[in-house]
Amino acid sequence: MSKGLLLVVSAPSAGGKGTILKELFQRNENLRMSVSATTRQPRDGEEHGKHYYFINREEFQQLIDSGKMLEYAEYVGNLYGTPKGPVDQWLDEGHDVVLEIEVQGGAQIKKIVPDCVSVFITPPSLEVLEKRLRGRGTEEEGTILKRLTTARQELTQAGNYDYVVVNDRLEDAVDDMLAILRSEKLRYARDPGFVEGLLAAEKA
Ligand code: 5GP
Repeated sequence: MSKGLLLVVSAPSAGGKGTILKELFQRNENLRMSVSATTRQPRDGEEHGKHYYFINREEFQQLIDSGKMLEYAEYVGNLYGTPKGPVDQWLDEGHDVVLEIEVQGGAQIKKIVPDCVSVFITPPSLEVLEKRLRGRGTEEEGTILKRLTTARQELTQAGNYDYVVVNDRLEDAVDDMLAILRSEKLRYARDPGFVEGLLAAEKA
């Protein structure tokens, strides 16, 4: 069995990636979602261990020091990081693993795991992004403005990603994600042993 594929997905916050990923997971059973650790406060309805592991800075630092973080970054005043253990295990089991992370973390993963596949999801326009951010109603004005500034900076990093998916119509965006996954899985280099096995079996 071949190893799973690591899919890095980044998008400015409120870019609609949550909805796309939810739908993607319903349409692909082999996918696993990494649950990040963060020092930010939970929003209403967010659960520890499901949406994030909500921990303090000291606990976060301990995870870094003991080598248990695959990557981490500071974003709008809080730390976010990917616990390494579950990702390694799922990949070894042949599952494809999604990391929904911001651009600094995305750049780190590209270096550590060069055969990862990275997708940048953009809103159709910055006006739409602002509307979605305000419509969510979970943040104060100051945080919204900070997130908008960060979003503009993040958009400048889209060129470092393998693919860009525009989140206009949900259905199209999900189809695009599935198409990316499907063709990336068919790359010869992901499973060279398959064709070699065919030839070896004929000789035997
Ligand atoms: P939010 O606070 O809106 O849940 O997330 C803020 C940003 O942090 C988003 O862009 C999200 O993708 C990113 N993020 C979530 N988990 C991680 C992580 O483990 N590592 C990194 N580098 N970014 C993360």
